[in-house]
Amino acid sequence: MQKGFVWFIISLLPLRARFSGARRENRFVETYTGQEGTMQDRYGRSITYLRISVTELCNLRCRYCMPAEGVEKKKHESMLSEEELIRAVRIAASLGIRKLRITGGEPLVKKNIVSICEQTAAVPGIQELCITTNGVLLPKLAQPLRQAGVRRVNLSLDTLDAEKYAYISRIGTLDAALAGLDAALNAGFEKVKLNAVLIGGFNDDEIPQLAELTRQYPVDLRFIELMPMYDSGDFGPEAFLPYTVVLDKLPEAKPVEQDGGVAKLYRLPGAQGNIGLISPVSAHFCAACNRLRLTADGKLKPCLHASDEYSIKGLDDEGMRRQFEAAILGKPSWHGELSVTNRSRAGRNMNEIGG
Ligand code: SAM
Ligand code: SF4
Repeated sequence: MQKGFVWFIISLLPLRARFSGARRENRFVETYTGQEGTMQDRYGRSITYLRISVTELCNLRCRYCMPAEGVEKKKHESMLSEEELIRAVRIAASLGIRKLRITGGEPLVKKNIVSICEQTAAVPGIQELCITTNGVLLPKLAQPLRQAGVRRVNLSLDTLDAEKYAYISRIGTLDAALAGLDAALNAGFEKVKLNAVLIGGFNDDEIPQLAELTRQYPVDLRFIELMPMYDSGDFGPEAFLPYTVVLDKLPEAKPVEQDGGVAKLYRLPGAQGNIGLISPVSAHFCAACNRLRLTADGKLKPCLHASDEYSIKGLDDEGMRRQFEAAILGKPSWHGELSVTNRSRAGRNMNEIGG
């Protein structure tokens, strides 16, 4: 029988029946990593990675991410509480989530960030806790976060030019970001990665200098294609460059074996870390997507660029579990065309989702 026809019949069943049926059909499978109890979506993808946005607020205003005026602070009662967040992680782990990334907004502006990290790292089944940050508050928080169980840090750094940094972040300084990098390197994290959003006419002239950081420091550097988010309208067609531009500027870079992540990996001779190319726009990697996202206001998002959301705010354990199951089964096969004219259908800016 055709797979599509089977799913058409299944889609007519109520969700609970669909999911229990799915369990009987061995939807909980032993994955290639040998982990048992991993949940699969309708397309056979094992969902093992949860990205959690702990706040929509930020101490920067990057032009591709959020409006110049920042975001209005939502009512405390409408945001996920610390207790709900930890409970959500327990439920996620019981469904097969193994890796967590704490993000935002800027996660380090959240008052209880160290406590959140400590508690989520200790949830049985969670094997890896990572954080994505702009680095500004790392001089104060790198050590406590490492002690709380954060294993890896991704730090955003789009340029090495102080004026350009001030322009793109609107209110930040390059010195503060570099002090954050220094703190991350000294805190003993297992891995430090730098994220640079590739923007035509802004930092494509700096590709070799940014790549050089992988020779100077034990870091990976990832170039991320600019995504046309809902409201980040500062950028015209010339800003959206394909990842291949990076390879054109780095003729010495040699491909290296993939590490199971979404980046295509390269390395410069003599480098201490890899160059990763992340291409959500020109060559999407949705077929290998193992992610689910949880927003700071308690919405599960099956896909970064889709408007579908499943709220877990205010729910008991069983209610949360049902929403996790629904979100996993609700993952689309891919995020659809993205371009300057086909903007993200997320219905939120990146700071409100968690990039
Ligand atoms: N504040 C933290 C930071 O900047 O690292 C974490 C949140 S931020 C939303 C996560 C990542 O999303 C950052 O690396 C940022 O550069 C990236 N990002 C934000 N908006 C983007 C866009 N429109 N296209 C590509 N990457 C984007
Ligand atoms: Fe803040 Fe990160 Fe968005 Fe920049 S990319 S505005 S640092 S959340």
